[in-house]
Amino acid sequence: MDYLLTEEQIMIRDLARQIAVEKIVPVRAELDEQNKFPTEIMKAMAQADLFGIYIPEEYGGLGKKSLDFYIAIEEISKACLGVSTTYAANALGSYPILLHGSDAQKKKYLPDIAAGKKFVAFGLTEANAGSDASGIQTTAKLEGSEYVLNGTKQWITNGGEADFYTVIAITDPSRGPRGASAFLVEADRPGLSFGKREDKMGIRASATREVIFDNLRIPESNRIGREGTGFIVTMKTLERARVAVGAQGVGLASGALDAAVSYAKERKQFGKPIASFQAVGHLLADMALRVESARALLYAVARHIDSGAAEYAMESSMVKVLGSDVAMSVAVDAVQVFGGYGYMKEYPVEKMLRDAKILQIYEGTNQIQRNEIAQALIKRAGKSA
Ligand SMILES: Cc1cc2nc3c(=O)[nH]c(=O)nc-3n(C[C@H](O)[C@H](O)[C@H](O)COP(=O)(O)OP(=O)(O)OC[C@H]3O[C@@H](n4cnc5c(N)ncnc54)[C@H](O)[C@@H]3O)c2cc1C
Repeated sequence: MDYLLTEEQIMIRDLARQIAVEKIVPVRAELDEQNKFPTEIMKAMAQADLFGIYIPEEYGGLGKKSLDFYIAIEEISKACLGVSTTYAANALGSYPILLHGSDAQKKKYLPDIAAGKKFVAFGLTEANAGSDASGIQTTAKLEGSEYVLNGTKQWITNGGEADFYTVIAITDPSRGPRGASAFLVEADRPGLSFGKREDKMGIRASATREVIFDNLRIPESNRIGREGTGFIVTMKTLERARVAVGAQGVGLASGALDAAVSYAKERKQFGKPIASFQAVGHLLADMALRVESARALLYAVARHIDSGAAEYAMESSMVKVLGSDVAMSVAVDAVQVFGGYGYMKEYPVEKMLRDAKILQIYEGTNQIQRNEIAQALIKRAGKSA
């Protein structure tokens, strides 16, 4: 299907595709098996300027549209969701600075992120605060001109690998949701340590660790936005980042579909390629229908954001839910097309199935996204009544 991409978007797609095919596909099984961070691939992506796509030119980026970035994510996700999570979580960590940072903070931090020289991670979740982020207990107490941070963030993607962290902490427990603020914490500050690297079901190339603050001191100037706006920063950050999760889903599903089609053409049973059996053909057709529907919504929402829309929370949740549900169901069906071989590690669809599950969980579970879509629908209906 022709999605009327610009020449630049096609260039970015082809560049990301080339890295995926040449650098990622050959090592993805090894990264998965060894739970290994993709350092060399990140370097190749930095050389190809893929980290600066969405960052404005004045801060060292390419200043492209968000669709350009989602297209790159889609291509990387076709090859390996662990690598694409590493890449996408860097953008997640950068959004608080990009969307709410001061000009000085943007000038100081964004050029190195855009160049892929420095990595950033986003720390919100804690052991007792997942879907209900208002339950976070990490505190940031102002002492003179410094904040002192104490607490533990859990399951932080790029934890231990990032050069700095954008972190949400409580500055005033008496103010409820208005008592949280966002901060920037450099990884070399005394008082920062990490838990062990999590041993996960999928996306094993991606590093997931606890990030622990023990009387860690940062200057007041490391606060992002005004005190008390931590959850607004979080909401706006996740609204943008959830579209990237949808793009990951479209990419993974599309990779699983390609693998299933190739296999169905080659594998013979009863003297014929299994693709010639209607049951298999219909399975492939339904997979393709779901992939193309999710891609169409992704591109439409990305263009809506790129048009300068102020509100896109519901649309971003929709892309996240559809992209991740499609990834999961297409990965399940791809394994079915492969039969017993699909269950074996020598074929990529086994890993794709394990990888796909996280998309329905992180950056707000799909149940929470459906809650948000329903609330937005009811609110909009109230306005138009
Ligand atoms: C691999 C991985 C990487 C991650 N990376 C990051 C990261 O970089 N930064 C970060 O801050 N966090 C990160 N997270 C955390 C992630 O965003 C949370 O796991 C997620 O938001 C869900 O929280 P929870 O796991 O505590 O589940 P819970 O909130 O305990 O939910 C458990 C179940 O209950 C359901 N549920 C809960 N409340 C409701 C409700 N009101 N209505 C309907 N259903 C509900 C959920 O949908 C889910 O099915 C990561 C998690 C993982 C596993």
